[in-house]
Amino acid sequence: MTELKENPTLIDLQNYIKKICKERAWDKNNYLEIFLLFSEEIGELAKAMRNREKLYTEEAKKYKKYELEEEFADVLSYLLDLANYFEIDLEKAFRKKDKINSKRTWK
Ligand SMILES: [Mg+2]
Repeated sequence: MTELKENPTLIDLQNYIKKICKERAWDKNNYLEIFLLFSEEIGELAKAMRNREKLYTEEAKKYKKYELEEEFADVLSYLLDLANYFEIDLEKAFRKKDKINSKRTWK
């Protein structure tokens, strides 16, 4: 069974997701299927944030701290999975885009 090492780098996380997707036979999904699941998790994250901020919540619905954490983790997992599908090194991509953004004028 694959285990995530302590203090993983971004590429460690990407490699971990690649391995567990294979172990759990989740590596058969194409990018559209992964994107649908990713989108679903973004919706769940939106709902968890809404619940935490008590925005349009039903009285019966109580915010649970782990809910928000879990949804961030779900979104991250699918983002890593999508990046793996397209063979994108997220750290490199982030650094490259951050460099571009640093040269832009922000108002
Ligand atoms: Mg979720």
